[in-house]
Parts: sequence; structure tokens; C-alpha cells
Amino acid sequence: MTTTSRRTGVWVAAVVLALVGAIGVLVGSRDTGSRGAAVPEPTATNDPQTQRAADAESALFAVEQAVADADRQAFTNAFDPGAESRAAGFYSMLRRLPLSTYTLRFVSPAGGSTGTADRWAADVEARWAIDGYDERPVSTEVRVTFTGEGDDTRVVDIARSTGERIPEWLLGQASVRKAGSALVISANPRLTERIDAQARRAVDDVQDVVTDWPGRLVVVVPRDAAQLEGVLASEPGHYDEIAAVTTTADDASDADAPVRIVLNPAVYQDLGTTGSQVVLSHEATHAATGAAATDAPLWLVEGFADYVALVDAPVSVEVAASQIIGQVRKSGVPKQLPSKDDFATRSGRLGASYEAAWLVCRMVADQRGEAALLRLYESALESGDVDAALADTLDSDVPMLTRQWRDYLGELAGD
Ligand SMILES: [Zn+2]
Repeated sequence: MTTTSRRTGVWVAAVVLALVGAIGVLVGSRDTGSRGAAVPEPTATNDPQTQRAADAESALFAVEQAVADADRQAFTNAFDPGAESRAAGFYSMLRRLPLSTYTLRFVSPAGGSTGTADRWAADVEARWAIDGYDERPVSTEVRVTFTGEGDDTRVVDIARSTGERIPEWLLGQASVRKAGSALVISANPRLTERIDAQARRAVDDVQDVVTDWPGRLVVVVPRDAAQLEGVLASEPGHYDEIAAVTTTADDASDADAPVRIVLNPAVYQDLGTTGSQVVLSHEATHAATGAAATDAPLWLVEGFADYVALVDAPVSVEVAASQIIGQVRKSGVPKQLPSKDDFATRSGRLGASYEAAWLVCRMVADQRGEAALLRLYESALESGDVDAALADTLDSDVPMLTRQWRDYLGELAGD
């Protein structure tokens, strides 16, 4: 698929990453709650590796303590004097984010190298939680460069580790603002105002259907494509055609995993007002319902998100479903509901697949009511078993739903 192939006017180049497995992120993570008193002062030892680990732990503890105490001077003192402006930048970003947890734990010398007394680096596990938004801390590894030894150990820099995601607190001069109940972290000043308004609307759109959702949404707006790839730890170009992604913040798939909507600024800003709102409301539906960690079929996950995003959008069905209607007129009604492969980002059928999935949900809401659609969705999302959900909530099954949907498509296409 490409964004341009997905039609004029509205459209959504948006994906939810169905992530499996907590790839390595839990390795080495430990409870940080009782950490404070246990951190050793730098002590002399004969083993240079052990000494360096102790020095790093001590310097890192000074950083996290300064953040916890909101003590700018202590934070600056934990850094090398030559890195004062870096320290000021880090500190102001850390203070802008409402963090309830922020810890840094030495993992290992970076790349196995011992470096020199002058400049050495370590892989460090960072854990943080955005207060009021994250149900548990996010964990990722960062690369910290130090200088000195013993009591004179200071931090020189904190940077993204290769292959790891860029934490929000390393986004540089990003703004952090509440947009209603949503939180918008934007490194892209051109989009900040627009996202503020659209995030509010996205929360309203979702709450109109998912009425018990408290509206805690975190939207990250990277500066550019390179920063987007850093935030998602993706291959260059992988998201070139994608307007927005909903993902767990650390690739975990547990139900409490903190979720982020990450926008691709270049694609997003080129969408019209209606199209970009549909994208954000669609992604907000995923975020609100924990869709990044479900086994429910994509036709239901994506179809429901589009149902929510489009139910009040000023777009006719002929426009919003133009690709699938065109396909039906050309080659007949599809035999099956869209498969997982139909939603692959490089599938040429992606646009029609989203529309087809949307029409399943629109049909259920038309024929059985929106509350029935919501029950079906929530039941399938929770169990991952759409057959059981259809039986329980609609007294139906996939073959019956497919027949009804094929009739519905045929009527829309004027067959
Ligand atoms: Zn989606």
C-alpha cells in the first residue's frame, strides 16, 4: 500500500503494531522501589570493572535523585562541567514531563570496552512512568558516557542505545502539554497546535462510543522521519507511508503496557483536516482499548477503530469506502473477511481492506446497534476468540457474519 494509493480526501495510513513478546526488555529489570538506601558510595576495589560499575551506579543515582528532588543544581553537578548545556537540556525536558518514576541502573560496560579514565560508556537500563498515564514504568536501555573515576565520576552524555527506542525524555526540546485529558509530547512545533486540538477531538470521538474510557492518551510527535524511526526503533523508510502508529512504549505485550500514539509528521501534515483527524481518532481507539496487545482478528480491530473515527466524520460512505466499492464493481464481492495478510503494510489491497473491515463494523452497528458492536469488540479483544465473542454477543458466527457483510457490500456497490 501507499498513502497516495489510498484515495483522495480522507485517509488513513495507520497501523497498530500487534507486538508479541517482551523482547529482552524485562531482562535485568528489577524492582526499583527500595533502591535509594542501597546504592553504594564509590568504593575502592582492585577490580577495574567492579570499580567502574560502582562509579557508574553512584553517578547515575545522583542524576535520578536530582530528578526526584527537582534539584537543578544537583543535576548539573552530576554532569561534567564541559557538558553543562547538555545537562540543562536534559533537565528541562525531564522536568516538563510529569514523571512518577525515573531510575537509571548500570547494566554493563558499553560494547564490552573498558574505555579510558577520560571517557567511558555504559549500557544503562532506564525506567520511567508518566504520572497519570502509565500503569507501569516503561523500560529501555540507553547509552551513558562518563568521565572520571571514584568521587569524581561525572556524566557526559545520555543517548539512545543502537536498536533501542528513543525515550520521550530524550526527545530534545519537545513541548509537553495537556490537551484535555490527553498528553501531547511534540518535538515538531509546526504540528503542536493542530495536534492539541485533534487529540481533544480524538478523545471525544472514542468516548462517544467507548463511554467508560478515562481518556488518558499519550501522543508523541517526532521532529522528523529520522526521529520517528528512533522513537519506534524501526528500519529507515519502514514508516514512510504511514501517518501514525499505536504501539506499546517498550515493545511489551502485557495488558498494562504503556501505550503511545506516534505520528509521522511528514505524512500527517499532508493529510487534510478531516483525514488527519480520522487517523488520530482511529489510533486513539486502538490506544484506548489496548489493541496493541490482542489476538483479536485485524478486521475487527481495524474495522472498529475506523467505525469510531468515521461515525461522526463528515464523509459519505461512497467516499470512505470508495476502494472496496470499486473493487466489488470490478471483480465482485470478496468471499472472505480481510485476512491478516490483507493488512500487511506492503499489501496492494490495504486501502480496500481497511474499508472492508470498517463496513463489517458499520453493518453490525446499523443492524444490531452500536452497543452490540462495542460488546462484540470488547469480548473479542479480551479473549482473542472472535468465534466465542460472536456467539456470546450476537448469537452469530464468522460464516453468518461474512454472508451478511457480503450482502451489505453488494448493496452498497449497487449490485
Ligand atoms: Zn489501525
